[in-house]
Amino acid sequence: MEKETRTTRSIIARTQRLEEMRAALLNMLEDTEEARRDAEAERNKIQTIITNFSDGLLVFNPNGRLDVINPHAEKIFGIQAEDALGLTKEELVRFPTMMASLKILNEKEDVFRREVLIQETFVAELTKIQIRLGRTPMGIMVIFHDITREKEIERLKTEFVSLTAHQLRTPLSAIKWILRALSEGDVGELEAKQKDMLEKAYNSNERMIDLINDLLNVTKIEEGRYLYQPVLSHITDVVNVVVKDYIELAKRKDIVFKVQKPLRKLPRVLIDKEKISLAIQNLIDNAIKYTPRKGTVTVSVVGSSKEVKVSVQDSGMGIPKAQQNRVFGKFFRATNAQTVDTEGSGLGLYLVKNIVEAHDGKVDFISTAQKGTTFTITLPVKEEVGEFLKKF
Ligand code: ADP
Repeated sequence: MEKETRTTRSIIARTQRLEEMRAALLNMLEDTEEARRDAEAERNKIQTIITNFSDGLLVFNPNGRLDVINPHAEKIFGIQAEDALGLTKEELVRFPTMMASLKILNEKEDVFRREVLIQETFVAELTKIQIRLGRTPMGIMVIFHDITREKEIERLKTEFVSLTAHQLRTPLSAIKWILRALSEGDVGELEAKQKDMLEKAYNSNERMIDLINDLLNVTKIEEGRYLYQPVLSHITDVVNVVVKDYIELAKRKDIVFKVQKPLRKLPRVLIDKEKISLAIQNLIDNAIKYTPRKGTVTVSVVGSSKEVKVSVQDSGMGIPKAQQNRVFGKFFRATNAQTVDTEGSGLGLYLVKNIVEAHDGKVDFISTAQKGTTFTITLPVKEEVGEFLKKF
């Protein structure tokens, strides 16, 4: 009897323990189920965002295979997800619409933004982002934002400016010759005062012609019609010719104008002399314009076997720090510059940058307000003439 009672108690205790374990297990199961539901809800949320994302989206996994393509990207490239998923970039080349984007994606940088023409009537802004979890690379994400409309508006604007500039150039040229004939006395002798006024009109007209020419150059750059004729040249020869035109102007402003040339002969560079001259002219022109009387402007040429540099240093008003990031933008004029020179167009440095970059070079500057500015053009020494010419 005693033994029986003990056995019964032990069974009851074990049953109770089992019951507790079952309850604990059930709890755990419930927790797992809840976690699974949460994870699924999260996945659905992400899937919904990707599906409804109004930009095209591609995600490549760390092995370089396409992991995600959203419906918008399918539409942009005119392909089906099931045909593209799992393919590498090299394999995706089979879709002609993807070719231009894949070429850009092969560039090394982790994050960048580029314009890409996907189809005749579709231009996108491509953003490449390297995804990382902590420090581990998780693949790359590529976003395609439709900018076709913006590009079209830009094109129409450029076309309008180009047309207007052309129309303005003809009457301005006519005015130029008439003013010159008048001031040279072709239609009768003039008094000094009359001559002086004509001179002013002539100079204003010249400034307007310069502005129109700048505008035409800008429109040509934007329409891809700015043609380069590169020849192997000594940069010092180009600088010598340009500098000559500014000696008189600097003297009139009481500016000490110095030129420092390298002691040794530099290697030749493949350049369009006319365009590079225009770029250097713009820098010297600015240096003299934005430097007060009795200041200094120094043009120097240095180089190595790899590159040549032309610097224009001045002791002028400088560019305010807060505005320095906009210097190469179209129509940019710093606030301090506007007070001393009301006529600038803000197109000069935009042209300089475009010309120099078309030569695979770069232009940069350092500037301190009220102390001075140095602009430097760096051009690569190219030996592969044939290879370089393909670019132009
Ligand atoms: P512009 O001289 O016709 O205004 P640029 O494109 O040549 O146009 O120059 C853009 C602006 O950059 C100028 O208006 C001026 O504010 C600033 N800038 C350029 N060069 C200098 C310089 N050497 N010193 C000070 N400011 C400069």
